[in-house]
Amino acid sequence: MKMFEDQLMGNTNTETTKQETQALKQDPSSTPNTSENFITDLEGVPTFDYENIPIVDIVNDMIVDSISRGASDIHFDPFDSGIHVRIRIDGDLHNYTLVPLSMKKNMITRVKIIANMNITESRLPQDGAIKGLIENYNVDLRVSCLPTNLGEKIVIRILDYSMSSTGLENLGFSKENLTLVNKMLAIPNGIILVTGATGSGKSTTVYSMLQKLNTENRNLITVEDPIEMNIDGINQVQVNSEIGMTFGSALRSILRQDPDIIMIGEIRDSETARIAVRSAITGHLVLSTVHTNDSLNTIERLLDMDVERYLLGAAISGIVSQKLARKLCDNCKSLRPTTDYEKKVFKNNLGLDVNEIYEAKGCPKCTGGYRGRIPIHEVLLINQEIKDAISAGLPKTKLRELVFGENSEITTMLQDGLKKILTGITSFDEILRLIELDDEEMNSYKLVEHEITNAENNQSDEKELETFTF
Ligand SMILES: [Zn+2]
Repeated sequence: MKMFEDQLMGNTNTETTKQETQALKQDPSSTPNTSENFITDLEGVPTFDYENIPIVDIVNDMIVDSISRGASDIHFDPFDSGIHVRIRIDGDLHNYTLVPLSMKKNMITRVKIIANMNITESRLPQDGAIKGLIENYNVDLRVSCLPTNLGEKIVIRILDYSMSSTGLENLGFSKENLTLVNKMLAIPNGIILVTGATGSGKSTTVYSMLQKLNTENRNLITVEDPIEMNIDGINQVQVNSEIGMTFGSALRSILRQDPDIIMIGEIRDSETARIAVRSAITGHLVLSTVHTNDSLNTIERLLDMDVERYLLGAAISGIVSQKLARKLCDNCKSLRPTTDYEKKVFKNNLGLDVNEIYEAKGCPKCTGGYRGRIPIHEVLLINQEIKDAISAGLPKTKLRELVFGENSEITTMLQDGLKKILTGITSFDEILRLIELDDEEMNSYKLVEHEITNAENNQSDEKELETFTF
């Protein structure tokens, strides 16, 4: 444990950002518990002996135990008589343990120390970071502290790099989608966008693409906020808007650095969107993320950001949309017959008669029948016809027809999800939770050849596919 602490103490850094960013980092979806209903549903949570064990060791044990459970975040919620500790696993928060009032201040101070925060400041939000190799995990912990009326609330975000470093082939793409992604990456100039909600694993996908493109003969530069993972051989630039280093100003400088490939952490504003498009047109490959749900909305979103249609049409080469589905636990999943509704969905969307599928059960090895997550994708390689349609300003319905119509080869996110149900990776309930079925999807019938591909079956290492923390 001592060694772990040394690793924690090494290579730390802090920065302070504005209150609103802080509130976002604090994960607004979480709501505090009262102590009466604080019952953990997690198996084998250790009991912490606050009387006899130093707080230093207790904090380290909590972090290591949370990481080994596959948690993405650890929340320390202050309340009148102590701290509720909760951890987020596969997207959901679970009660972890209660810290008594006598230890409240010590616990918060200890976390602030290892995150290299100012322990004398308790009225302002603070950011900190802890980097190190923990057992076999090369992790980065981001720490955020927010003053609340009941004391300081701390959230530790656990960034696990083991996923990104396993390569694009292990990110859960179907064989067909992986081929499309590789085609996009082979185009020397253009924009590739990865889209999805916060926490959908966009960064994992973008970093994996960058690693694939990272060869000696190319100059790769990123501009990010924050830099989520350090990659050898790539020049990474951190945005710092407080001193005028915005995405826009950083990008203008980057273009004078003779780049081949530029990665923009996220396109959030018109200026960034316009520079991204112009960079792509002047011979660069640009990778970025956009906070949208699917390919069509992404095109609309960029047009809303005042990007000229004809430029966007010329620049864009591909859009990868994704959502994260919880994976069924291999230890307890069980087969059951499909309902009439499920049969209809499979028939309408895959053209298959499906009589039984796996469902979640629950056992000591998992949380509610699920363990780890896997993305479901919609991959759109933009062909000339679609480029022309964007440039010409065809209405959204026409564009939809081109992207999803009779002649399209696209696998919709629903189809990708249904295929992952058939291979026993996830459940029907989980896909239905992520994708709202509209009438079109229930009634239209488009035959897509079903094939259980190698890429989908290649689940050799459970751990590698498990964490999508970005
Ligand atoms: Zn299980």
